[in-house]
Amino acid sequence: MSDIDKLRDQMDKITLEMIQLLKNRAEISKQIGSLKNNLHLSITNEERENQLRTKVISLCKDIGLDEKIATMFLNFLLNESIKIQSVNKQTHLSVFLKAKSLEQQGKKIIHMEVGEPDFYPPKIVRESLTEVYDKGFIKYGESKGMPEFRSALAKKTSDKYHTRTKTENVMVSPGARFSVFLTISTLLHPGDEIIVIEPAWPAYMENALNAGIKVRTIQTTLESKWEPSVNQVASMINPNTKMIVLNYPNNPTGKILPKKLQDEIVQMAIKNNLYVLSDEIYSNYAYTDWKSILSYEYDKSIITQSFSKSHAMTGFRIGYAVSHPEIIDKMAKLQALCMTNVAEPIQYVALKALGADTSDNTKTMKNRLELVVKMAKNMQLDFVAPDGAMYLFAKIRKENFNATDFTNKLLDQGVAIAPGEAFGNYQNFVRISACQPEKLLSEGMQVIDRALSG
Ligand code: PMP
Repeated sequence: MSDIDKLRDQMDKITLEMIQLLKNRAEISKQIGSLKNNLHLSITNEERENQLRTKVISLCKDIGLDEKIATMFLNFLLNESIKIQSVNKQTHLSVFLKAKSLEQQGKKIIHMEVGEPDFYPPKIVRESLTEVYDKGFIKYGESKGMPEFRSALAKKTSDKYHTRTKTENVMVSPGARFSVFLTISTLLHPGDEIIVIEPAWPAYMENALNAGIKVRTIQTTLESKWEPSVNQVASMINPNTKMIVLNYPNNPTGKILPKKLQDEIVQMAIKNNLYVLSDEIYSNYAYTDWKSILSYEYDKSIITQSFSKSHAMTGFRIGYAVSHPEIIDKMAKLQALCMTNVAEPIQYVALKALGADTSDNTKTMKNRLELVVKMAKNMQLDFVAPDGAMYLFAKIRKENFNATDFTNKLLDQGVAIAPGEAFGNYQNFVRISACQPEKLLSEGMQVIDRALSG
């Protein structure tokens, strides 16, 4: 046998041993997952992960292995564990699906679990839907979107935030969700790290997992008014860190960061050359001072926007991203691969909707949220009043209380709300969505109150 064959045999043997070890590791991870599930513990545990990361780095020093490669490999292993353990997680979508199936059986449900405005899109949407056929917007188009729509979005953005946003900074996508997917999938690579501030909309984590990217979570607390400290952010950054996600006004807390804190976090990201993915889908529902990340004019920022919440156009699947042209080019390439382009009729309708006055939506949502907050004050709930968005994220003031069980119980009583665990390690929290008329919200809050008092 030649020397090269001998070495190849050794490599094969080591690789097969690693595969066997991977299997053993997955088995243990599964057992840990079911224990966590029984004990209502969170899947991710930053402290444990950090301890292991420190051990790996120290081993690398001892044996002379490149730390970057080792920690990327570790990230892969940690992500595998999260995937294995995530199977049982309940989210607002799983509650929504259960609620829908109950409705099919004839049960009346008040939907306070999903973030979908119940009101209709602007009138012009109806008119433009009927004229789009004759206008001939019926063919394949550019993957970044129709030029006239992109330039209208650029103008609107520039006017609103006093930026120099141009057509080449904008791409149309089928909803903010898809822009988030494109951002994470094109700009990050397996083993890279992304910082997510929890509680958070679950798709950031899920997209990262899907692309083999390690999520480092900062768990903010009700006690600290959902504010991450600059030190917390700093402690998450290492050579593998490539992106931080911001989402203000926030889903699920409704938080808007104080200006100074936001400035400091953005400056920290800039100093460390991180991408900043800012999901600003709730910007029309900001009830206190709010500053778009666009106003920092940072080349590595990506802003995701949508017509879903502002124009109540969830079903149209239409949104857009604003960023540096080179980033837009990369994202558009993946969009072209996935779907060629967003349906032209929908783009045309959204272009028309852009001119509509949506201030009534903002007022309606504010009033509803105020009603929910007012009623919640007299209930066994602890919370900070939201600064924006459409939700109340509240802690249930009871010992050893599991909000997921409570959510299921409440569904039987005709009210759907989202369990806190959908948004991170918040097992005794619930998210109450204010997307229904006040009468229904009031009824729903009374049912919640009775269930909590019982
Ligand atoms: N971002 C956040 C923070 C959301 O809450 C949602 C929807 N709930 C989305 C994005 C998705 O929006 P779209 O309908 O535009 O895909």
